[in-house]
Amino acid sequence: MSLNLPYDPENIFAKIIRGDMPCTKLFETDEILAFMDVFPQTQGHCLVIHKQATATNLFNISADELFALSTAVQKIAAAVKASLNPDGIRIAQFNGEAAGQTVFHLHFHIIPIYQGNTTKSHGSGGPADTDELEITAQKIRTAL
Ligand code: AMP
Repeated sequence: MSLNLPYDPENIFAKIIRGDMPCTKLFETDEILAFMDVFPQTQGHCLVIHKQATATNLFNISADELFALSTAVQKIAAAVKASLNPDGIRIAQFNGEAAGQTVFHLHFHIIPIYQGNTTKSHGSGGPADTDELEITAQKIRTAL
């Protein structure tokens, strides 16, 4: 059952943390990495992960690591709010394949919602244009 999977160091976010895979970075410390989702549900959809916690989901991260991660989610979401001026912001986090999780390194989605615009459903969007991602990322970075 994917809720109890062991942590796989070859998962795509582990590769991004090691620098083996590229990403459009928003924010990085020794503990935290925030980057743009390459299959965005809306403009500004980004992800926040803990770099040291080898946690597949919410149930195998320490309280201290979760505190650092959730504090970072609030910080990045505030920058998304200030820079992109959405009407709402959805914070999402999936545990287990049955719940929609596809990458088994714990992560939080920050999804700005714009009234009147389409929000793609989870896992249904095509890949974003890299230049457009970078333009949006630059706006968010300036608000950090
Ligand atoms: P989840 O389905 O909740 O596990 O979310 C995984 C998210 O990672 C999805 O929204 C994907 O679009 C996103 N994703 C997958 N591969 C990459 C990648 N290489 N860089 C950025 N985001 C990715």
